[in-house]
Amino acid sequence: MIEVRNVKKHYGDFEAVRGISFTADKGTVYGFLGPNGAGKSTTMNIITGCLAATEGEVFINGCDIYEDPAGAKSAVGYLPEQPPLYLDMTVEEYLEFVGEAKGLRGEKLFREIDRVVKRTALKDGTADFTDRLIKNLSKGYRQRVGIAQALLADPEIIILDEPTVGLDPRQIIEIRDLIRELGHDHCVILSSHILTEISAVCDYVIIISHGEIVASDKLENLTKLGGSRNYIDLTVRGDESAVHRMLSSVPGVISVEIETKDLGLAHVRIAIEQGTDIRETVFFRFADARIPILSMNYEEITLEKIFLALTADTAADPSAEEPDEEDMSPEDAVAQRVLENTKRRLESLTNGEESVPEAPGVPEMPDKPEMPAAPQVTPEPQVPQAPEDTETPAADKAGKKKEKSPKKSKDDDYTPLFGGRD
Ligand code: ADP
Ligand code: MG
Repeated sequence: MIEVRNVKKHYGDFEAVRGISFTADKGTVYGFLGPNGAGKSTTMNIITGCLAATEGEVFINGCDIYEDPAGAKSAVGYLPEQPPLYLDMTVEEYLEFVGEAKGLRGEKLFREIDRVVKRTALKDGTADFTDRLIKNLSKGYRQRVGIAQALLADPEIIILDEPTVGLDPRQIIEIRDLIRELGHDHCVILSSHILTEISAVCDYVIIISHGEIVASDKLENLTKLGGSRNYIDLTVRGDESAVHRMLSSVPGVISVEIETKDLGLAHVRIAIEQGTDIRETVFFRFADARIPILSMNYEEITLEKIFLALTADTAADPSAEEPDEEDMSPEDAVAQRVLENTKRRLESLTNGEESVPEAPGVPEMPDKPEMPAAPQVTPEPQVPQAPEDTETPAADKAGKKKEKSPKKSKDDDYTPLFGGRD
């Protein structure tokens, strides 16, 4: 359904996206997870044809996004990070406007608007927001309008960039429910820098850091990347062989590493099965054996730690052995590279380092120009402020439809999502 091959994006000398490849299919919610500045929005803008890649290929249902943009884009509904909304239009006028730009007309257009406003709860048995001016809607309802426009014309692929940012907890739950529901019969890709968001909604997680994929797997497999184990670290005063003997009979112990120190001290690292907590047993066994415990620390390998280790500021290791990719299919070679990368980044989790390094905030470019936030039909990216003109919504709409054509963003490689379809 979506195939992304080795996509790169350079802004001048800066490599924002450094060779991303993945495939995505129907019936699954994919999560782009990564710290701010990781390259999620850039990748999404490239997949949706709003931004030209420096290198690489994107196929949507077999259509090349550059060779056949209309074919590719017709299968995609996109909610950019800044939803492209006209504040002075009513919800219905705006959806009509977007629907027409997507090629919908007449009865079909109105059936589609009715479907999406119901699906996004802009209209139900008790409330109807379709006649409200968008500027009078709360952030949560504006976000619904943004999602509703993405759903118009029923595209098979829905791409949502940070869809719950700025929403209150109830709105977050509602939007997440909607995304999960959409995942049943669509291919959904959503991005977030929040781990709990991704783990609540996504079936498959693609972790992006510094413009590259550092892990890509089903959510349940990601939690196992840490090795399905937790650790107890002890400092004891005792003999190595006695410690080994004693711990070998404790249920739940996977392995024991002992490092003897000066003054009869030993550092003991016990790997234990996830879901077991044997701290008390260990305490009493050591007490019975009259081996004093001087310190005990319990370390749980959580998904959060895995995420932090994966997105820490570890540059690619040039000395790392390249996997032998000659006999592999391109897909297997990519999967193999990601796996090697993942393993290398997770080494800090299992080698007993005191703590996992903090994920760095990627420094934002101070003079970052506006991203092309309004890919589909919007002449200008929406900014949440009152427009200067004071025309009525209908007149405004008509004027905008006739007079304005999608304006090029500061990136001159911007292309409108539905360019060429009207
Ligand atoms: P994310 O969505 O993961 O937060 P982005 O894709 O927005 O990350 O940005 C990735 C990196 O590219 C960031 O360091 C950002 O500052 C930089 N960047 C994004 N857009 C531009 C641009 N138009 N010009 C220069 N740098 C940009
Ligand atoms: Mg972003």
